[in-house]
Amino acid sequence: MPADARYSQGQEATAFLARHHELLVHGKWIPAHGRRLGLVDPSSGNDIGTSAAADATDVDLAVKSARKALDGPWASFTSAERGACIWRIADLIAANAQQLTEMEVLNSGLPIGVAGFMIRHLIPDYLRYYAGWPSKIHGLTIPAAPLGKRPGEALTYTLREPIGVVGAIVPWNAPLLMAVLKLAPALATGCAIVLKPAEFTPCTALRLGELCLEAGIPEGVVNVITGLGEVAGAALAAHDGVDKIAFTGSTETGRAIVRAAAGNLKKVTLELGGKSPVLIFPDADLQRAIQGAAHACFFVQGQNCMAGTRLFVHENVYDEVVTGICAAAGALKIGASMDAATEFGPLVSASQLERVAEFVSAGNREGARLVHGGHAIERAGFYFEPTVFTDVRPDMTPVRNEIFGPVLCVERFSDAEVENTIRSANSTIYGLSGSVWTRDLGTALRVVRLIDAGQVSVNCHGAIDSAIPFGGNKQSGWGREFGMEGLDSYLKTKAITITW
Ligand code: NAD
Repeated sequence: MPADARYSQGQEATAFLARHHELLVHGKWIPAHGRRLGLVDPSSGNDIGTSAAADATDVDLAVKSARKALDGPWASFTSAERGACIWRIADLIAANAQQLTEMEVLNSGLPIGVAGFMIRHLIPDYLRYYAGWPSKIHGLTIPAAPLGKRPGEALTYTLREPIGVVGAIVPWNAPLLMAVLKLAPALATGCAIVLKPAEFTPCTALRLGELCLEAGIPEGVVNVITGLGEVAGAALAAHDGVDKIAFTGSTETGRAIVRAAAGNLKKVTLELGGKSPVLIFPDADLQRAIQGAAHACFFVQGQNCMAGTRLFVHENVYDEVVTGICAAAGALKIGASMDAATEFGPLVSASQLERVAEFVSAGNREGARLVHGGHAIERAGFYFEPTVFTDVRPDMTPVRNEIFGPVLCVERFSDAEVENTIRSANSTIYGLSGSVWTRDLGTALRVVRLIDAGQVSVNCHGAIDSAIPFGGNKQSGWGREFGMEGLDSYLKTKAITITW
């Protein structure tokens, strides 16, 4: 990712953070009932502001506001008008990229090169992709003959209607991107949304709410409520006025969402955790594979749902790959996220740092061999070294669980063990992503079919584009985001039959 020297001070973000943030409901800022929450810069551990904490009554107001907007002015927008609004949000994000990037970096600890790339490119591209969809969402005419009718005696057609009020609950690892992944298809399909960002990282979602109003989205179509997951998130997931929850977060919280949604059987889509395998075969372009595997695990400090945290290496190239990965980990420029030279920044919070340290201790206790890193870094903020374990077994704690930190577990396989290795790669509860590194087309095609994941890449890892569907198998999720499939869960089909 290109580092951008223009971002060095964070003044624009500081000015925004200094504001007394409230909840954005029906186009107005309203106070919340809960006690305010502190916000911390992960790079320094310094306080950077506070945010409002919504309770169930605040959530109720936001849901009612969304319903009112859905039944009111938003329903009269043509598909072209909806598309134009989404396009304008993309333009406004690009125009405000500096402020949004600074806020994201200060609030989430994403290295500035990564945050800048997301906010200048990935997010506007994704919005513009969905801006093109409203005019292409349509039903079908169906040559059916119900009720004993003959051809020409009945007409059946379908309508694709917005599912209604969407509660979007998102995590902290790429806050604005996660919010926009829900917002764009919701607006494209004509839904109204109540967005709940993670408690650690509400800043860019609040600014996004303002930009939506500026883009001409009517009041109440986009509401932003900040607050604790167990309070505001839980109230949103349980609310009878919500038609669908679009959730991204941990598998454990995903289960709580499903339970909460059972009251009115609202629809639920889930983008959850991962423990993605990376398989390197001996014929791979090794330099590329080594850099790719290191990036797959250590990108954004491993706080990435697609992170390739289980590495399987053929015995013929095992030593070379392990040495190369450790060298790549050692070469990463570790530093404050606002520093344009930083390649590897802090974890999001003190609790995340503690969680990663506990998983590493468990690996040490259970007999994994620590060959790189393994310690918190002695400096202000929440830094943990990129870490590599070898000699691991599939039953070890850091191998089975999503750590959401920079910890790679490496296993070795022989020609005779390929089938077993794939079984082992599939043996976690997750099925989000994976990659295969080989020059042999037959090996690639055979292995990609056998990996049980929603996304598998060959000679690259985590290939993301607005048009490529993304989501998890097994306990990594329900449904898909991105691309044409990303619209489906925001729509409901109505079948109409006319006889005469
Ligand atoms: P989390 O599950 O703790 O929190 C996610 C969101 O849910 C936050 O907004 C939180 O406030 C809210 N929440 C927490 N408890 C809740 C409850 N009981 N009811 C309703 N909402 C509640 O996850 P996190 O720690 O913020 O994020 C990390 C996780 O997100 C990892 O597991 C990661 O793999 C996953 N993730 C998945 C994807 C994907 O696309 N599959 C993308 C990014 C992150």
